[in-house]
Amino acid sequence: MQIADLGEFGLIERISSRIAGYGPDVVVGIGDDVAVLKTAEGRLLLATCDIQIEGVHFLRDRITPYQLGRKAAAINFSDIAAKGGSPRHLLISLALPGHLSVEFVDGLYRGLQDEAGRAGAAIVGGNLARSLSGVVVDIMLLGEVEPDHLLLRSGAQVGDRVLVTGSQGRSAAGLALLLQPEVQVSEEQAQDVLAAHLTPTPRLNEGHVIGQTRAATAMLDLSDGLASDVGHICEMSKVGVRIDGGRVPISEATIAVAAKIGQDSLRMALFGGEDYELLFTAPMDRAQQLALAVESETGTPVTDVGEIVPASEGRTLVLPDGTVAPLMSEGWDHFRRARTKSGPPTEVAGYMDETRLRGLKSSPRGGLRNRCRGF
Ligand SMILES: [Mg+2]
Repeated sequence: MQIADLGEFGLIERISSRIAGYGPDVVVGIGDDVAVLKTAEGRLLLATCDIQIEGVHFLRDRITPYQLGRKAAAINFSDIAAKGGSPRHLLISLALPGHLSVEFVDGLYRGLQDEAGRAGAAIVGGNLARSLSGVVVDIMLLGEVEPDHLLLRSGAQVGDRVLVTGSQGRSAAGLALLLQPEVQVSEEQAQDVLAAHLTPTPRLNEGHVIGQTRAATAMLDLSDGLASDVGHICEMSKVGVRIDGGRVPISEATIAVAAKIGQDSLRMALFGGEDYELLFTAPMDRAQQLALAVESETGTPVTDVGEIVPASEGRTLVLPDGTVAPLMSEGWDHFRRARTKSGPPTEVAGYMDETRLRGLKSSPRGGLRNRCRGF
């Protein structure tokens, strides 16, 4: 059956029947003009949104509806994790072509519901519209955080260590396999990187531990790639950074894929994007203890990859052979060209932060289109 046969109201009814029950914080969920929600006493409300557009962020023949639902929710949860908070309520807007099968929407909502359930969040409403081209999944997410646990991009201090969870470049390796299925790696390696790309795990537990210990000074999630995202912390904290390329954690599976496609694995790790790991900063004397706390409480490895330096020292990358190169968001060659221009080579990052300050969020640059072009 196509969704055009079911009609808007039939589809809303079908979607509503697939939403799990609500907790006491949802006074009114799906079905009225608005959702009515109770906010927890003494907590801060967090709000974010992120969109997945067919052809820009995903290819419909390379991701199942279930995976798309999981991913669309997970990438929003990742932003809340990066503030030390918990996701609570999702509003989901869908634009769908009329000829799409009803089973697609069923699978999508199964994924959305599973991911939300895992995170303790509830789907409380949304909107449906006909799309004249592809599928669009737009999620608005509300979360909450203890005021003492909140971490922003703006708190990094000179001398802080720079730490990351998990490993970098897995999602880019997964995308490379999706786009070049003929590339041969072991089944286990393929599963590892494909899962990272198709169903990323938001680092909610890790974000909680980092927020609770109150040892970290700044945090964000890695959606565009380490090289680009650490720049956002530099912009907002008015500091520079020195990343030690030899310490950036890269999984065996990522290295295997990179080797097969003739790509430098460090390049993949720094510029790949969509890893949804956390990057945070902490004073030198507390960093190691914090890393151990995250590892022991969540099982997720944490790696020290560099240091916050004065803004006057800029953003640099120490390559494994000891060479120091400027660290920018797009690649080493591009960096070198940009460095010869006058003024700081950070126009793109500056634009991103400005749009965020105005309450707008630019479309994720870690999307499929850019990654395809990048590789
Ligand atoms: Mg983010």
